Amino acid sequence: MAKLCCSRCGRCWDPYPIKTRCMECGGFLLPVSEEGLRIGRGRGIWRFSGSLASTPPKAEALTLGEGDTPLIKASRLASRIGLRELFVKDESRNPTGTFIDRGAATLVSAAGSQGYRRLVVASLGDLAVSLGAYANRAGISVRSIVPRSTDLVRAYQALIYSDRVDLVESYAEALSRLSKISMGASLPVDSSNPYLLDGYKTIYYEIYIELGRHPDVLIVPMGDGALLTALWRAARDLEGSPIFIGVRGCTDSPLLKDIAPAKPLMRELVEEILVETGGYVTEVCENELLETIRLVARSEGLLLEPVGVAALATATRLGEDFRDKLIVAVATGGPLRDSAVLRMAAGRPLVEEALGPTKQRILEIVVSRGPIHPYGVWRVLRESYRVDISLRTLYQHMRELEEKGYIRRAGRRNVNGRIRVLYEASEKGLEAAG
Ligand SMILES: [Zn+2]
Repeated sequence: MAKLCCSRCGRCWDPYPIKTRCMECGGFLLPVSEEGLRIGRGRGIWRFSGSLASTPPKAEALTLGEGDTPLIKASRLASRIGLRELFVKDESRNPTGTFIDRGAATLVSAAGSQGYRRLVVASLGDLAVSLGAYANRAGISVRSIVPRSTDLVRAYQALIYSDRVDLVESYAEALSRLSKISMGASLPVDSSNPYLLDGYKTIYYEIYIELGRHPDVLIVPMGDGALLTALWRAARDLEGSPIFIGVRGCTDSPLLKDIAPAKPLMRELVEEILVETGGYVTEVCENELLETIRLVARSEGLLLEPVGVAALATATRLGEDFRDKLIVAVATGGPLRDSAVLRMAAGRPLVEEALGPTKQRILEIVVSRGPIHPYGVWRVLRESYRVDISLRTLYQHMRELEEKGYIRRAGRRNVNGRIRVLYEASEKGLEAAG
C-alpha cells in the first residue's frame, strides 16, 4: 500500500481519510509506493492499483479507459533533429484528450469512496474538464472556477459537466477563491492535489515497463509542476532518476497559458527536483511550437496541440551532449481541433485570398479581350473602367497574376514596330473571373 509523504518535513500519512496537505507543516503531499512497482491484471492505470495511494479501500475504482497510451518511437523526427533515440509518450489518447484523466480517475475514485458529493476545482481549463468527466460518471457534482481567458471550447466543456462555472479575472484569483472553501461535504481541488499526482505516476510506470529501463532524459511541460513532480516521484519508487527537463511558455499568450502560470504552485519543489536530477527549465515560444506542430505531423503523423508539442520542441534543440541518450518527451495533450490554431500551424491559407479590385478588373479584361498585351490592358482600364494607375503598377499587377497562375503568356505580337508580349487567362483565371 502506498502512503502520502510530505515534501517538506518528510512525515508520511495514510491516504485515508482524504488529506490534501501535510497535517503537520502544510507541505505538499506526494504519493509514495514503498514496495516499488506492483503490477496487477487488467488494463489502464488500475493495473498499478497495488502501488497507488488512491486505490479505494472498498469501493470500485472508476475508469473511462484512461492510460495505456502509446510510447511511440519517433525515428524520422529523431534523425531530422540529430538524436539517436527519441520516444513520444502520447497522452492525447486519454478520454478527454489530456494526461489529467489519469489523475481525475484516481482522485474521483478516492473522493467517491469517502462519501464526497461535490468537488470544487480551480483550474486553467483542462483540469475542470477532466474532473468534470469523471465526477459525473461517479455521480458527484462539480463547481469549476476558471479564468475568463480560458478558451471557449474548454469553458463550454466545463459548463456541460459542472453545476456552476465561476469565471474570474485570473488563475491566481481562482486559487484564492478555492482556498476559502473548507473541506466538508465538498472537496476543494487544485492541481497539486496528491490524489491527482497519484494517477500521473502511472505515465512513468508505463514508460518504464515498455522500455524495460529508465530513460536517460525525460522532457515534461510544466504548468504548476504537478506532472513533473509526479513523474519524478514514480521514478524514485523504481529507484531510478532520469535527467528531468521542465518546459515553460515564454509568455502567457493564449496558446501558452497552460504552461505559463505567473506563480507555479509547486515551483520550489520542482526546482529542487531539477537540481537533484541534473536537469533544468527551458522556455518555448509560440512560433517554435507552431513549427514543431508541422514538423511532428509531417515526420511522425501525430497532430498535437501547441502545449502537447512543447516537450518535442525542446527535444529539437538539445545539444551534442544528448545525442546518444534515450530521450522520452511527454506529449501532454491534443489532438489539435481548433481551426484558428490549425491555420497558424499550417503556415499557409487553405483557400487563396480573394483578388483585390484592380487585379480582378485586369483579369476580366484579359478574359474578355485576350490575348492582349499589358499596354492594351492599361488603356482599357483607363478608358472603360476609369482606373488610372501607372504602367509600372500595371506591370506589377500582371506579374503577380501570372505568378499566381491566373494568366499566362500567349505569344508575341508586333504592335506598331514594337514587340509586345500577349497574355491570356488560364483555367484558374477563367474560373476566378466567373
Ligand atoms: Zn510536513
